[in-house]
Amino acid sequence: MRLIDLFKTKKPVISFEIFPPKLDMPLDSIYDKLEDFKKLKPDFISVTYGAGGSAKDRTIEIASKIKKDYKIESMAHFTCVGHSKEEIDSLIDSLENEGLENVLALRGDPPRDQPDFDFSKNVYQYASQLIEHIKKRSNLCIAAAAYAEGHVDSPRIKDDLINLKNKVDTGVDFLVTQLFFDNRIFYDFLDRAISLGITCPVTPGIMPVFRADQIKRIASLCGASIPAQLVIIMDKYGGNPDDMLKAGIEYACMQIQDLIDNGVDGIHLLTMNRAKSTRKILENLNLLQK
Ligand code: FAD
Repeated sequence: MRLIDLFKTKKPVISFEIFPPKLDMPLDSIYDKLEDFKKLKPDFISVTYGAGGSAKDRTIEIASKIKKDYKIESMAHFTCVGHSKEEIDSLIDSLENEGLENVLALRGDPPRDQPDFDFSKNVYQYASQLIEHIKKRSNLCIAAAAYAEGHVDSPRIKDDLINLKNKVDTGVDFLVTQLFFDNRIFYDFLDRAISLGITCPVTPGIMPVFRADQIKRIASLCGASIPAQLVIIMDKYGGNPDDMLKAGIEYACMQIQDLIDNGVDGIHLLTMNRAKSTRKILENLNLLQK
């Protein structure tokens, strides 16, 4: 199913994001987890691409298995950074040959060993160019990334929004946001996006705080700010993993409930491959689908 058709008929669309196991781990390790995720009946599962530069080839394989064997709609993430034109075309063909219908098309970050990577030498400098190409070459439903707090490379949030509008206009069906912890920032972003003429569905990315140190690291990489309320929670419980997990789940539930009350198109849960904690969140929110 093309996910845009789902967004037209269901609100909120509940989706999970998982990442492929690193290359030194057997691929099968993800399939045990998928058994548990399947029981939670998400509307779709997306599979990240790259995991720090490795495991790229596993994304399509896992996304395909989610669809064919687990009978859950899936979406493969795809970054074009460092790929040749031939590699990009071959990946697009593989997605279609595997019967996949959805892709999250991204530019990607500089490779870890090349922090000064020059994107002007990349086949596509921006995701919008990749999206234009995918649109011409395939019938895939195309999602793209949005940044409620602005992308870290953008000197001005306003410029990032204008770039987002141009990206959507090249053929984006729906947007998935970078994680954020303060809903007010998301609502403000939505208002400004709508006033610029962005009308496609926008599903917010929510990452529950399972571990304080991990969240601090991820937030610093992607530029997400941590509100005072969450800083206090992490300072209080960060030293005790069980208490932190409980408090993190509580915070995520509060955030998600507020988003749902405010009529969001979807909730995209960044599960960190943790099915048990994901279940707890859905149970607390009465979101477990029958
Ligand atoms: P773009 O949309 O190209 O934007 C990148 C920067 O360029 C922005 O600052 C933008 O404002 C600017 N820009 C865009 N167009 C123009 C223009 N015409 N002129 C000037 N400036 C312009 N990374 C992975 O490696 N694997 C993943 O699986 C993955 N999944 C992600 C999922 C989500 C939901 C999100 C939000 C991010 C994900 N990322 C992933 C991270 C992503 O690859 C990085 O954030 C990357 O730096 C930007 O990718 P993009 O597609 O948003 O880029």
